Amino acid sequence: MNKQEAKADAGKLEISLTPVQIVRDIAEVRMYGTKKYGDPDNWKRVELQRYINAMLRHTLAFWEDPYSVDEESGIPHYKHAECNWAFISEMMKEKVEADPQTCKHEWVCTGAFNGGFRYTCTKCFGTKSEMAKEIKNDG
Ligand SMILES: [Zn+2]
Repeated sequence: MNKQEAKADAGKLEISLTPVQIVRDIAEVRMYGTKKYGDPDNWKRVELQRYINAMLRHTLAFWEDPYSVDEESGIPHYKHAECNWAFISEMMKEKVEADPQTCKHEWVCTGAFNGGFRYTCTKCFGTKSEMAKEIKNDG
């Protein structure tokens, strides 16, 4: 590579540095998912939080047993986690560009804690907590 070529490539991603096996793994899971759901774009209509939870479940299964496979698909859990990360990465790309200060939040409940609920915005990934309203029982 001469100086001119080096200058032209400065700041550009060296995609060839990426190990390729993960692409094959994700393709395997995507082929299974596309067969199951029929539409290759179905994943785009699922909320980010669901992929985060799926990734955590598959990661936990892998953590407990690195050779474990997903019961339904027969595909190893770590490959499902890789595919979840691919979806999360695509969705995060858009969310990091959204401004939480100007976002018209769309809150979804993403968890409960003692006495309240946690919410995440589906557009900007902002979070908030709310205490559960006291349930009056006058019976
Ligand atoms: Zn928001």
